[in-house]
Amino acid sequence: MVKLSVVIPTYNEESILPELYRRLTKVLENVGESYEVIYVNDGSTDKSLDIMKTFHSKNKRIKVLDLSRNFGHQIAITAGCDYARGEAVIVMDADLQDPPEVIPQLIKKWREGYDVVYAVREKREGEGYFKRVTASLFYRLIRKITDVEIPQDAGDFRLMSRRAIDGLKLTRERHRFVRGLVSWIGFNQTGVKFIREARYAGETKYPLKKMLKFALDGITSFSFMPLQLGVWAGLFVSLLSFLYALYAILVKILTNTPVSGWTSLMVAILFLGGVHLLTLGLIGEYIGRIYDEVKQRPLYLVKEFLCEEE
Ligand code: UDP
Ligand code: MG
Repeated sequence: MVKLSVVIPTYNEESILPELYRRLTKVLENVGESYEVIYVNDGSTDKSLDIMKTFHSKNKRIKVLDLSRNFGHQIAITAGCDYARGEAVIVMDADLQDPPEVIPQLIKKWREGYDVVYAVREKREGEGYFKRVTASLFYRLIRKITDVEIPQDAGDFRLMSRRAIDGLKLTRERHRFVRGLVSWIGFNQTGVKFIREARYAGETKYPLKKMLKFALDGITSFSFMPLQLGVWAGLFVSLLSFLYALYAILVKILTNTPVSGWTSLMVAILFLGGVHLLTLGLIGEYIGRIYDEVKQRPLYLVKEFLCEEE
């Protein structure tokens, strides 16, 4: 059995792969354990797949898992973890934002007996103000409204022991928020600090739209809170309307003229319409996810797995 597996989800990273290969193999050779590296090709449309295949023909410890199309980062990670055979599995991005040089520190903690060792970003380089602020707000929010302890400033760069990976493999939900699932499985978890570098080359594969979807997946996977917002809004509006009704009745009795009011009517209708649509939309988010689960489609399909053993 190989000791270490490194899983690398990859989507159109042709400009980075050679440098990643160089830095990663150097680190892994120095560790001195048997290893495999699984490049998960998530439907790349550039030369990434060809480059991975040349790595594989040079070095049989490099394996290539070619998915049938682009399934997204979180599914690509899941696929790689499903195929990894190591006693410890390390997940890292292909873009060198997760520096391979941190791996020995992760392994050290694993040897001390931890099942999950996540890499915590101490400093983020090359990421804009907007991304840093929204990410920080998001993690704060998700810690508040969910029961799982998702570590602040940890991405998907982490090491997991065999039993942690086997636990993770049992969770087959479709809208996957892997870092939340990893917290959910429990065991002994710890963090190791590192400085997140800027992307080595190419550009982010997470435009704003995907980020928002990812954030929503994270929240809906681990919290009912948005559904409960309707209850609070309902209570609030009921209370207000009760007070307003009292006022209207008093005005009618005391002055004998009804409250005039196009404005108040319009405001009330529009406000309530907004609240209704918003809560309906939130319910829709959950129903859509239930629908996806019920269909029970496989999480991904594999075109090819290049993995001859030496
Ligand atoms: N990625 C993937 N499938 C996708 C999008 C991204 O496998 O649909 C990979 C990508 O190649 C990279 C990692 O996921 O290795 C993280 O993506 P990226 O660096 O673009 O995200 P960011 O660091 O900007 O959040
Ligand atoms: Mg990145």
